[in-house]
Amino acid sequence: MSRSIDLSGRTALVTGASRGIGYFLAKGLAAAGAHVIAVARTVGGLEELDDEIKALGGEATLVPLDLSDMAGIDRLGGAIHERWGKLDIMVANAGILGVISPIGHVEARVFEKVMAINVTSVWRLIRSVDPLLRASDAGRAIVMSSGAAHSARAFWAPYAASKAAVEAMVRSWADETKNMPLRVNAVNPGATRTAMRAQAVPGEDPQTLPDPSEVAEKILPLASPALTETGLIFDVRQKRFVRYQMPE
Ligand code: NDP
Repeated sequence: MSRSIDLSGRTALVTGASRGIGYFLAKGLAAAGAHVIAVARTVGGLEELDDEIKALGGEATLVPLDLSDMAGIDRLGGAIHERWGKLDIMVANAGILGVISPIGHVEARVFEKVMAINVTSVWRLIRSVDPLLRASDAGRAIVMSSGAAHSARAFWAPYAASKAAVEAMVRSWADETKNMPLRVNAVNPGATRTAMRAQAVPGEDPQTLPDPSEVAEKILPLASPALTETGLIFDVRQKRFVRYQMPE
């Protein structure tokens, strides 16, 4: 996996590393030589990842953390600063769907949870690690979005709004840092065979969807020190960056 990129000596933080796309991103980054800081709530999933990374000869630090714990995110940034003094790669991948429902039927606690995990925790993580990414000679930030941010489909409002929000943050952050080595991009992975997709579209045959390992493999080049693009969205299905334009 990812033998084409050499990330030896680099440190990569991945949220939502216990399963799904984040699991394979973490594994791929470790296979490319990065020390992976793996964040999620499910210790079993993190330990399975750790076993796989060790079997590849790689290294990981496991961080069982609920990303609704904003002070915990701040502490994580502090701990990375103390141990490494910098961060080379940040993958803000953790996310939740919330509910597929008419907008008027969404419960307040569900809406707030979607915003807390998909938006506020991403901003909090950015705030916590931005100085560490700037301290790297080739900081790379990858933020998982979704086609839902743009498709504006019926019943997807909370999730769609949360992904539109993270893309706006990515673009502002990329503009702030465009004259630095730091490169900041969003990713649209496309429909992928994971627990989240099964929750969103329960009637679908999962075997018709790409495996998260395949999807992760296509995202890994965004962590490369050779990457030049910033402030864009990488469309996994098209395997290329797509540009933003103002609505007409
Ligand atoms: P999964 O549901 O398979 O995995 C989600 C990950 O996020 C898990 O590792 C989970 O870990 C973590 N997570 C969720 N809530 C929290 C929390 N409160 N604290 C810490 N970690 C949390 O999702 P996918 O792999 O499908 O999705 C990954 C990203 O890709 C998401 O941002 C999603 O929106 C996006 N995406 C996915 C698509 C798809 O078709 N699958 C399509 C478009 C975008 P744990 O439960 O252990 O905490």
